[in-house]
Amino acid sequence: SSGQNKRLRIAVQKKGRLNTESMALFEKIGIKVQLSKSGLYCHAIDVPVDFLFVRDDDIPTLVNDGFCDVGIIGQNVLDEFCLTLNEKKQSNNITIDKALGFGACRLSIAIANSKAYNDINSLKAMKVATSYPELLMEFSRQNNLDLSILNISGSVEIAPNLGMADAICDLVSTGRTLEENNLKEVVEIMQSQALLIRNSHTLAPELEVFYQRLIDRMNGVMQAKE
Ligand code: ATP
Ligand code: ZN
Repeated sequence: SSGQNKRLRIAVQKKGRLNTESMALFEKIGIKVQLSKSGLYCHAIDVPVDFLFVRDDDIPTLVNDGFCDVGIIGQNVLDEFCLTLNEKKQSNNITIDKALGFGACRLSIAIANSKAYNDINSLKAMKVATSYPELLMEFSRQNNLDLSILNISGSVEIAPNLGMADAICDLVSTGRTLEENNLKEVVEIMQSQALLIRNSHTLAPELEVFYQRLIDRMNGVMQAKE
């Protein structure tokens, strides 16, 4: 295993909604990276930390398998990943250490504006396009909706207009994208924000102490903000 590494390996989204605020948080607690952030891999200045910049979808795998010790990831992506692990009967080695208060959004079901909606049963047996098939399947099971799930990885919101699906299950923050595509949000499945996660086993004792200090500083920074 990779258990005795001397530097803390942190996985952060390379580009996208979580990158800026993740790196801003690290900067606030005194961790800076060299200017060129073009690479996949980056040493921090003066502290035993290395950053790995990757697609957010890869972060749970990197942390679960111990290639990274720590990561910042949306709860939506983490929950989907954990359901997939369960499904495959693989072990879950991820601990959630802290909710970070940014990256807020919700996973919701939306249907065409023109479609009638009374209650959740209006969704019965619909074909729903999503990038979160496990979360949607669980929701379908819990509510006896018998949904048919179309798993697509991007631009989910165009599926109803193309006749590919009756509904979508996707992330919403302002609702503008839904509006632009003539969709209306009808059910919220979950709320999400960015989480600090870590591998439950990989940290050497010295790094464990260092990491706990980082968390303390994050708590300090976040309290100061309130
Ligand atoms: P990547 O190239 O890393 O795969 P992505 O397109 O999957 O990027 P982003 O759109 O940057 O990812 O979103 C990353 C995370 O930001 C989401 O998983 C979610 O937790 C959070 N988020 C916050 N608000 C929104 C929103 N309005 N739409 C999508 N994601 C949001
Ligand atoms: Zn992604």
